[in-house]
Amino acid sequence: MKQYLLTEDQISFIDMVKDFFAKEVLPIRAEYDEKEEVPMEVIKKAMDMGLHILDIPEEYGGAGLDFLTYVMLVEEMCKVDDAFTSILNAGSIACKVVELGGTEEQKNMFYRKVVEGAFVGMCITEADAGSDVSAIAATAVRDGGEYVIDGTKLFVSNGSLADHYIVFASTDKSKGSRGISAFIVDADLPGVSRGKRESKLGCHAGDTCAVTFDHVRVPAGNLLGKENEGFKLTMQTLDRGRVKVAAMAVGLAQGALDYAVSYAKERVQFGQPICRLQGVQFMLADMEAAVETARQMVYHAAALIDSGMPCSRAASIAKLTASDNCMKVCTDAVQILGGYGLCREYPVERFFRNAKTYQIVEGTNQIQRMVIGRDLCR
Ligand SMILES: Cc1cc2nc3c(=O)[nH]c(=O)nc-3n(C[C@H](O)[C@H](O)[C@H](O)COP(=O)(O)OP(=O)(O)OC[C@H]3O[C@@H](n4cnc5c(N)ncnc54)[C@H](O)[C@@H]3O)c2cc1C
Repeated sequence: MKQYLLTEDQISFIDMVKDFFAKEVLPIRAEYDEKEEVPMEVIKKAMDMGLHILDIPEEYGGAGLDFLTYVMLVEEMCKVDDAFTSILNAGSIACKVVELGGTEEQKNMFYRKVVEGAFVGMCITEADAGSDVSAIAATAVRDGGEYVIDGTKLFVSNGSLADHYIVFASTDKSKGSRGISAFIVDADLPGVSRGKRESKLGCHAGDTCAVTFDHVRVPAGNLLGKENEGFKLTMQTLDRGRVKVAAMAVGLAQGALDYAVSYAKERVQFGQPICRLQGVQFMLADMEAAVETARQMVYHAAALIDSGMPCSRAASIAKLTASDNCMKVCTDAVQILGGYGLCREYPVERFFRNAKTYQIVEGTNQIQRMVIGRDLCR
């Protein structure tokens, strides 16, 4: 976090959040990772503080934070537990889709529910549509005053908790990606069913599952934006999603670095703390450089988003650098703990497992390279 970029009010809010995470999240993070469960009681407390609506506009009841302050907060939260943070913030990009595509009535209705504590799942990915979003096979067919939605979505974050989904489905197959539309779908509608929670390498407390829509009827008024404009809506939210994930990776990496430094100061070998050994100090120095480099890229991309300037290349660079650096930093944190780094009772083992997530979500790092390369070679 860079205090010189913030006002007194922002600093005191961030301090309050840090205090909450230190008192409420730190003591339970290992337990819920082990149990592979959502720590719902503490999530509810965080929601009471408004930590799930940080970037929702004030006029709709959210905190209305600018994006730079938002990502700084995300970073601070992920320093303690990125899985917990992902549960709180998984709905933020879905909310952005509503902000961009929704009518005033849709926004008022949708945000009121989110502010009151409803969970939202973003449903894009399918069996044959992962990196290639344009291959979406789910369909939405107009039938009088309704659309009938069919299809199965995979890897939906907060999928089994969600009260509402933002579902992307094809309304005109002949148009490919230009025939995709976005819908608000209530989770309790007939035909909506959830698969079992995925048991993943990392972020065990986080909730990810498949959601099937079998002849689900939604009012035509649940269409977001115009018909066939769903792909455009996802593309407009991509940059924010990527920078948010990059901020998560920076926070996780900082947490790993902090732990490695404190361990290296305590652990004695060859008659001295290992942090006095140049080989270890050099590793720590490289880790610090990697975290700080990524942080600057995240803040730069977030500032571009706040200013409304083009930022796709910067967002991809931030996501690529932050997640690759996070993986390296977490790997080195394990190395600095030696054999203890492999043991579950030390948090770096979990940091290492969680780190892999950020090289994959919100567009794999190969896709980020593709975006950067294409932008360079236009
Ligand atoms: C924890 C978690 C949470 C998620 N949350 C959500 C969610 O809330 N909503 C949602 O819709 N989805 C979600 N996803 C899905 C995520 O967006 C996809 O996993 C991701 O986009 C990659 O798709 P895929 O897994 O099908 O991999 P694939 O697209 O099959 O990719 C496989 C490999 O091929 C590479 N590859 C693919 N295309 C190219 C290319 N053109 N050039 C070079 N290499 C390429 C990839 O980089 C990767 O290494 C989540 C995933 C995870 C793991």
